[in-house]
Amino acid sequence: LTSIQEYDPVKMACWQAGQPTPYLHIANGLQAMERTTKRLRIGDAIANIFRSILALAPEDLLQAAYLVIGKLVPDYEGLELNVGPSIVAAAVAEATGITRAKLRDMHNQLGDMGDVAQACRHTQMTLHRPAPLTVRGVYRTLRQIASEKGSGSSNRRQRAILGMLRSCRESETKFLVRTLVQNLRVGANWRSVIGALARAVVVHQEGLALPKARLDAAAAAASNAFHLCPSLDILVPALVEGGVDELERRCTLTPGVPLKPMLAKISEGIPDVLKQLKGEAFLAEYKYDGQRAQIHMLPDRSVRIFSRNCDDKTTAFPDVCEAITAAAAAECQGLVLDAELVAVDRANGNRLRAFQELSTRARGEVTTHQVLIQVCVFVFDLLYLDGQPLVAQCLRERRARIATALPHLRPGYVELATSVEICPRPALLGLADGVVAAGTGTSPRAASRPELPSTAAPVQQGAQQAAADADVKAAQVEAKVEAKVEERLQEVLLEAFAGGTEGLMLKCLDVGAAYQPSKRSDSWIKLKRDYCEGLRDSLDLVPIGAWYGNGRKAGWFSPFLLAAWDPDTEEFQSVCRCMSGFTDAFYTEATARMKARQLAGPKPYYRTDECPDVWFEAAEVWEIRGADLTLSPVHKAAVGHLHPERGVSLRFPRCIRIREDKRPEDASGPDVICELYHKQTRKMTNAAESLGKA
Ligand code: ATP
Repeated sequence: LTSIQEYDPVKMACWQAGQPTPYLHIANGLQAMERTTKRLRIGDAIANIFRSILALAPEDLLQAAYLVIGKLVPDYEGLELNVGPSIVAAAVAEATGITRAKLRDMHNQLGDMGDVAQACRHTQMTLHRPAPLTVRGVYRTLRQIASEKGSGSSNRRQRAILGMLRSCRESETKFLVRTLVQNLRVGANWRSVIGALARAVVVHQEGLALPKARLDAAAAAASNAFHLCPSLDILVPALVEGGVDELERRCTLTPGVPLKPMLAKISEGIPDVLKQLKGEAFLAEYKYDGQRAQIHMLPDRSVRIFSRNCDDKTTAFPDVCEAITAAAAAECQGLVLDAELVAVDRANGNRLRAFQELSTRARGEVTTHQVLIQVCVFVFDLLYLDGQPLVAQCLRERRARIATALPHLRPGYVELATSVEICPRPALLGLADGVVAAGTGTSPRAASRPELPSTAAPVQQGAQQAAADADVKAAQVEAKVEAKVEERLQEVLLEAFAGGTEGLMLKCLDVGAAYQPSKRSDSWIKLKRDYCEGLRDSLDLVPIGAWYGNGRKAGWFSPFLLAAWDPDTEEFQSVCRCMSGFTDAFYTEATARMKARQLAGPKPYYRTDECPDVWFEAAEVWEIRGADLTLSPVHKAAVGHLHPERGVSLRFPRCIRIREDKRPEDASGPDVICELYHKQTRKMTNAAESLGKA
């Protein structure tokens, strides 16, 4: 495990320039990463793997990057290996001559199929040595395995795996098997791989004598590029051929390649929203209770629909594809919309139906005739139109172009999200008087203050009085503006509830109003019914462990240990034990699912002082509501943010639902948890103060 500075990419590589990269080079790197949980060391190890490849066989870099992360294609392409544990076990048994029963015993002991295969490898007898595995050979075979279909495909997959297993050297067996069971267990993820790619390329092109800031800037640029265009197929050639500077030009938004959606911050009511929006013009838009959809129309007018997670959902919504085609301009050369799909009752005036009804709609492939739950697309953003990405433009400009992109909106099929523009300027609220400069385009605070004379001693006293009067007047106007905006927002919020929505999304129109992919931005704020009723937002948490249930719950897991995800430390940090909000059916199904994901022990990146009976693979997200957040000696969510050793825990947690549209890495993180913690503290202080006053 060598740092970037110490690593010599040519001397330390296990092959010569001009030869294909051996798979052993990846396996050695993964082996080194397995020895640490330190993020920086893991990042350096990945960068070093890539540096040797850049020096000796740059054409292998793309496939190597996929193998380091254990993937074959961008997530949105949804190509799965389709290799069950039994196929892998059968291939390992055949390669090593060890019985399936013995393999099962070893698996129970070691808890990882890769470790089992590696241990068995030593007993493997080979008459002749097959050719060593190469990065391109392994990648090609894995792609072939993934595309096997039809009768005899299991057998063909098993043969292909067997062929690779027989060629394995040293630790290759362990990591090949872990790749096949899709659990590399070395702590590499998209973020670390993208950062490492950028640092490797910069060091390769510019040498080692670079300031750390240059390497960090390169990693940040690559990460931004990946948010806009999450495809290694585009990013790696751009980096290799043109360096970091090429990313902005080549990694742009492209129809067919989904970008990570922009997210909203929480608020705790109207006054809080107004404070967060800082006096700028904003859109108060209905917050529909449905399913987020990023809708792409390609230049050939084919439509693709991606979920919040960038999964391709096109085949589940053929009706939506038809509706978008009908709504789009005939001459449209491609567009990308951000929208919410909502179940509607067309026979009943397009009444909005609850999210629960949408969730009963078939999830797999359907034809338009099989659609039982009708859906309306509520479009709220336009990110790309006719060859031009619009993400850098402000929301006002993006919204203005929706009419050009979709001239044929149709109620109940494709509609523009209902919204009202609110501009906290006195003139625009009918509050203009002598002091206020109407339509100046500045904030009311700045607009209402006249310039003060700076010199001229004889007029000083009079000027001071005038300034004081102006300040009083400005404060009065400001208070009136605030009251008026609050009143207006309250009205719109009530209309939104009456319209069957969850509340409002408040979005800056002009200032800081670019579309920020994957960011939980200050310029989008959500105002939900819950906040108005005094409850806080829910958390999205990942079950990572459980205890065996007692009494009525014997046979099920209960309680579950739930964790938040910290993207900086890349840890799942425990938040609470949860045993409420579950139906019996939920317990039965969750217990069966979790049993299949049981681990021998906690992952190195699980952080908690709890000791549950069983540990699970982090694989799904549950929405959890609770009473309040407290600092805890046992739970570790947001540790280091509010207290050096203590994390935050959620008291009286209750499960609301499974979030099928979220991945474990989309679970709530320290940002959301700290914000909720501070908001509740402020709320308690305010309550205490008003009690004191009373
Ligand atoms: P998040 O997506 O912020 O992690 P979440 O998935 O728990 O949070 P909410 O807190 O309910 O969802 O709010 C955000 C979601 O609201 C968006 O992801 C989107 O699906 C939905 N939404 C509904 N109407 C709008 C709208 N007008 N603008 C943006 N998002 C909207």
